[in-house]
Amino acid sequence: MKKALVLGAGGFIGSHLVKRLKEDGMWVKGVDLKLPEHWKTFADDFVIGDLRDVNVVEATLDQAFDEVYQLAADMGGAGYINTGDNDADVMGNSILINVNVLKRAQEIGVSSVFFSSTACVYPECNQMSSSSINCKEDTVYPASPDTEYGWEKLFSERLYTAYNKNHGMKNKIARYHNVYGPYGTWDGGKEKAPAAICRKVATAADKIEIWGDGNQHRSFLYIDECIRATVEFYRKPEFFDPINIGSEKHVSINELVDIVSSIANKRLTKKHIDGPIGVHARTSDNALFKSVMGWVVDEDLQAGLEKTYAWISEQVALTTP
Ligand code: NAD
Repeated sequence: MKKALVLGAGGFIGSHLVKRLKEDGMWVKGVDLKLPEHWKTFADDFVIGDLRDVNVVEATLDQAFDEVYQLAADMGGAGYINTGDNDADVMGNSILINVNVLKRAQEIGVSSVFFSSTACVYPECNQMSSSSINCKEDTVYPASPDTEYGWEKLFSERLYTAYNKNHGMKNKIARYHNVYGPYGTWDGGKEKAPAAICRKVATAADKIEIWGDGNQHRSFLYIDECIRATVEFYRKPEFFDPINIGSEKHVSINELVDIVSSIANKRLTKKHIDGPIGVHARTSDNALFKSVMGWVVDEDLQAGLEKTYAWISEQVALTTP
């Protein structure tokens, strides 16, 4: 039986990934600071541990797993990464994890680690208007990400690539663009836009607060498509450059609110307030993914949001006295 290790297995994407790997018939070990908060883990073995600690990394990366997915990171939505208040943690914690994991993986003969990078690596100047977004993979340099989160991911991308160059590893790097779906963080400050909007719509009577003017554009990728793209890209031999995993269909935050409101069958007045908003416009460019993989995600935002809203409104109902 093939064995997989998922680092960050208690998180949103990691917990879904463990389920998929089990469906593939693998034996799966998960590691995280915590168990998944919103559903059970499907892992055969789950270690609660801090991957900043080299001893934890040595104890858990204890054999040459067939597949190693590194998703652990100190991250969150705009309310966490765009305020500047958490920059030292966002950078310091994640870089320690990546340094520890790579060093250990190479020492014990793991041939390849999957690393989850982000759309936040792209230069701010290519994302100033919804009509001129450029997030092609090779536009990342000259680098000028708008957040320290993006800078840390870019440095770590280079670290994974350096291990390929100097140690013959075959690490794979994907840049995720706004992944959403059920069983993700939906409150507490680390939630991302789709979950935050679903929660706000679910709790609203007649008004909804939106950070900024709501004209900022983003694309959103449903979790199932993210998992399929991740696993198939990781298993695809002979392509080791970073690749986008995201949707190309971008909508404004105002449009996102309209879609979720109509799913909830609510008529809400939008109140625009000050808040962290990030770059003006960002979306995936899937030309490279299509040429490498031969398929692209199908981008059905409405269907994905229906499933996500159903789950988040249920959580809201369960936690509202
Ligand atoms: P998440 O926050 O739900 O999962 C990350 C997990 O890492 C958490 O469960 C957290 O507890 C764990 N973790 C953090 N520090 C740790 C430590 N020191 N030791 C052990 N575990 C630790 O986030 P997610 O949405 O599942 O994202 C997974 C990965 O994908 C992250 O690396 C993230 O940067 C990247 N990513 C996600 C998105 C997205 O839209 N969700 C977009 C771009 C990139």
